[in-house]
Amino acid sequence: MKVLFVSSEVYPYSKSGGLGDVAGALPQALVKAGHEVLVVSPWYQTLKGAPLWIGDVAAPFDGGFSQVGVGTLERQGVRYAFVGHSQFQRDQLYGYPDDVKRFCLFSRAVPQVAERVGFVPDVVHANDWHSAYLPLILKDGWHLPAGFPGRPCVFSIHNLQYQGVSELEATLYWLRLPSSLKNSYLNHFGSANAMQGAIGFAEQVTTVSPGYAEEIQRPEYGYGLDGTLRHLSFKLRGILNGLDTEVWNPASDPNLPAPYSADDLSGKQQAREALCERFRLGGGRPILGVVSRLVEQKGIDLVLKALPQLLGQGWSLVVLGSGEAWLEEGLRQAAAWHPGQVAAVIGHDEQLAHLIYAGADALAVPSRFEPCGLSQMIAMRYGTLPIARATGGLKDTIIHDQDGFLFTHANPEGLLWAAGQARRRYAEARWEAMMVRAMSKEFSWARSAQAYGEVYRLAWGG
Ligand code: ADP
Repeated sequence: MKVLFVSSEVYPYSKSGGLGDVAGALPQALVKAGHEVLVVSPWYQTLKGAPLWIGDVAAPFDGGFSQVGVGTLERQGVRYAFVGHSQFQRDQLYGYPDDVKRFCLFSRAVPQVAERVGFVPDVVHANDWHSAYLPLILKDGWHLPAGFPGRPCVFSIHNLQYQGVSELEATLYWLRLPSSLKNSYLNHFGSANAMQGAIGFAEQVTTVSPGYAEEIQRPEYGYGLDGTLRHLSFKLRGILNGLDTEVWNPASDPNLPAPYSADDLSGKQQAREALCERFRLGGGRPILGVVSRLVEQKGIDLVLKALPQLLGQGWSLVVLGSGEAWLEEGLRQAAAWHPGQVAAVIGHDEQLAHLIYAGADALAVPSRFEPCGLSQMIAMRYGTLPIARATGGLKDTIIHDQDGFLFTHANPEGLLWAAGQARRRYAEARWEAMMVRAMSKEFSWARSAQAYGEVYRLAWGG
């Protein structure tokens, strides 16, 4: 099938989180499964790699037309088209007050850009709120290239928390959509809500794990859209993300002091020693690692609240992350108060992340919600057992007391209970058997690509 895959970020060219990883890996897996894929993404100032500029197209936008540049690239059988405009010439990908208007322009440009590179899709796959306007545009938009009106859409939710909310009338004007859409799924309590619009208008809706697909239909996890999702649950399903097993492979990871595998774990011991040496940790204690954005979602405050008892259980703690100031400060203080037992590196450090995944014994992932989660899968592949909250993709990828540890309640007591279970197992021979089981676990993109292929066929009506 010809799949037009639209994402606001795509690894290795741009990335702020899990969406970038998915947009980097899934199209490759789709091509291997026999699909033809064009990925369309913004041409950011910070884009890594240089697309070839092939010309401009006129995107219907803001009551008229806007000229956007088209850049192309090809990588491992996947074609990429980047949408260039001064609105994407900024220091960061997002986080600006005019984000909705910027991504309305992006979404509106996608059909024209695809036409420019000669790609008329069988199905359009939009991801998260930034491209969530596409299902509406393809159903009701004016000035669409031939072959685009009414194309079926699949919409994937990577994080329901961010919905793209804006003023209804202005948004329809930017998108050049008819005002009749004021009374459509785009309207959420009087505002334009991109996420709800796509959930309503797409033929099929997916999210990144079966567990999250079920949770977002409940008020606790639905961020105000649980009612819509319950109503439309007939077209909603969860497909677990895969892991890029070439990037995340302890047997060939250049960031580690020595390679290792389930057959020979000596390299893991060397990684552990390197980690202890770097942070002057006492060698006798098991190491609990954290590699995470420091935001409320990730439950890092639970680690801080439970810290004295975690240290009492015998753990050392190594944290790598950046995010909200109160969590950064709390971690800095914890490291200052417990030298030799707690280390905190505030910032983004790809190399250190690899060393922590390899050198730690366990990884704490106490998320309040987790659509899929990559870090627990990476940890398992490196023989580091996750201690995680039983939510979303964490619940779907970890089997308690087999290849990790799960707790139910998002509070310090819950985390401490699971950490205590892990600590007991760590003293037993069974721990190594659990490591080997975790390392052998299959997280392949091939399986996910097959599931997406089925969803595309459903959207297409086949
Ligand atoms: P999310 O996408 O919600 O941030 P995921 O677990 O799906 O969470 O993916 C997080 C990815 O970002 C993982 O690859 C993790 O290793 C990486 N990561 C998070 N924080 C850092 C950091 N401070 N330095 C390096 N890598 C990080």
